[in-house]
Amino acid sequence: MNGFVINSFEFCRLGEHREGALTLTDLPRLAKEVASAAPLHWVVQGGIDQFGYPRLDLTVTGSVELSCQRCLTPFSFAIASASTLILAKDEQELDSIDAVLEDDELDVILGSKEFNLIELIEDEALLALPLAPKHATCPDAATLEALKSAAKPSPFAVLKNLK
Ligand SMILES: [Zn+2]
Repeated sequence: MNGFVINSFEFCRLGEHREGALTLTDLPRLAKEVASAAPLHWVVQGGIDQFGYPRLDLTVTGSVELSCQRCLTPFSFAIASASTLILAKDEQELDSIDAVLEDDELDVILGSKEFNLIELIEDEALLALPLAPKHATCPDAATLEALKSAAKPSPFAVLKNLK
């Protein structure tokens, strides 16, 4: 696990790059939210933004199984998440960067010399999950609908009764 702890400021300054795959065993908070998951692929790229602040570009992709809130059967959800994070040295700098950057696409977080990439990746995956996971059309509901419409009287029978 120690390979995931980086000096985030140096990582950005040197424009370093890391990538890998994580399973639910490595991501206990995500494991609570999803039924199962294929290994999540992640990429972290360090750099310096236009204002000279350290920035991390993070992408997390993969497929997880969620439980549908309507019919309680599993359905698969594709995580494809990308974020740009600006690193602040301390709380004070965090507030001042937040004020300068009016871009909602960017998040300002506290950087650290012992920065845990796994936590960052797990946060990103958690934020990508839908708040209320549901099938667009639940398989069970679809079956029910089919049965209901089959039980309806045919339009011809209705017409016949009107006459
Ligand atoms: Zn469903």
